[in-house]
This record gives sequence, structure tokens and C-alpha cells, in this order.
Amino acid sequence: MTATLSKIIWLACGIVWFVLRLRPRQEARQTPVRHSARDRREYVLLGASLAGLGIVPCFYLAAHFPRFADYPFIPALSYLGVAVEAACLWLLYRSHRDLGRNWSVSLDLRERHTLVTTGVYATIRHPMYAAFWLMALAQALLLPNWVAGPAGLVGFGVLFFGRVGREEALMIAAFGEEYRTYMRRTARILPWLY
Ligand code: SAH
Repeated sequence: MTATLSKIIWLACGIVWFVLRLRPRQEARQTPVRHSARDRREYVLLGASLAGLGIVPCFYLAAHFPRFADYPFIPALSYLGVAVEAACLWLLYRSHRDLGRNWSVSLDLRERHTLVTTGVYATIRHPMYAAFWLMALAQALLLPNWVAGPAGLVGFGVLFFGRVGREEALMIAAFGEEYRTYMRRTARILPWLY
């Protein structure tokens, strides 16, 4: 394993992530939104996530900036990053399959929105966000730079903590006691822990 290969793996996994989302995106587009809680704050949170997981690391790959924040490449971290990427892509694929046409990039309720509580949603309420956390962790492990590596954890952290409570409130407003009961028997992203 070399630093260059590690960077190529990060990029390749990003492309796989994008491709895995093509079909869900198309399906979701065909299902009209019934109610949206998107506001300016949501766009700021989405921007933070995009910057940390995409723009900052791409800039690092393309322009090797910020060079001063480089640290010596550690192959063991990179191998661990590959394993985390594999888990991340599996979880992304499974959560999209389970959530189906109920998915959206922001806080939307679609026509005939159903509450999904099976598959990967049976143990945790936010498996897709868990996949994002894994992607951010893999970025930190694969990119040997103190800025570009952890940028994903910071950027997605802003989105996650800024959104998750509001999303759960939206689901309670839509599904009431059914969602409250579901909350009691599931964790947010770490099975049985959080
Ligand atoms: N937070 C979930 C879903 C992310 S997609 C996850 O991480 O897996 C965001 C949209 O999914 C939200 O707008 C919400 O309407 C919808 N959603 C969230 N949890 C859901 C569930 N259990 N069943 C159906 N839709 C859900």
C-alpha cells in the first residue's frame, strides 16, 4: 500500500457511492414530495457536509493543499480504511434498498410515505447516516493529511447533529405513536449504544 494508492481508493469508493445512488435518486424523483421541512439551515448543513466529504478532500487530491498538514503515510491505517469503506458501501446499498422511494437528501415526506422499520432499519433508525459516518471515518484513515482527512468527520458531524433531532421530530409528526414505539426499540446509529 502506498499513499497514492490510498488516495485512489478513496476516490474510487466515492465514485461507487455516487453510482449506487443513481437509481434511488431516479426513483425518488418519480415520487412527489407531500411536505418539506427544508429551510435555509438545511442548505447550510448540506453545504458543510459537501465541503468536508467532497470539496476539501478533492482539493487536496488535485492541488495537494494544504501540504503543511501532511503526516507520514501509515499503511496499517490505510488497510483499515479499506475495510471501513467496504462496510460503508454495503450499508449504503442496504439502507437504500430498505428505504426505497421514501428516501430524500433532505427533510421531505413523500406521497404515500411509509415508515420503514425492517432490514437494517430494524436495529438502528439512521443506517444511511451511519454509512456516512463510516465514509467520513474511512476518509480520515485513507488520506494522510490533518485537514483533508478529518474534514469529513467535521462536515458530516455538523449535518448529522444539526439534523437528526429535527428529522425524528418530523417522523413523530407524521407517524406519531408508531415512530415513538420504533424509537424505544432502536438506537440512532450505534446498535444498542446511541
Ligand atoms: N435518517 C435515515 C434516512 C435518511 S434519508 C437514515 O439515515 O437511514 C432522509 C429522509 O428519510 C427523511 O426526510 C425522512 O422523511 C425519511 N426517513 C427517515 N427515517 C425513515 C423511516 N424509518 N422510514 C421512512 N422514512 C424515513
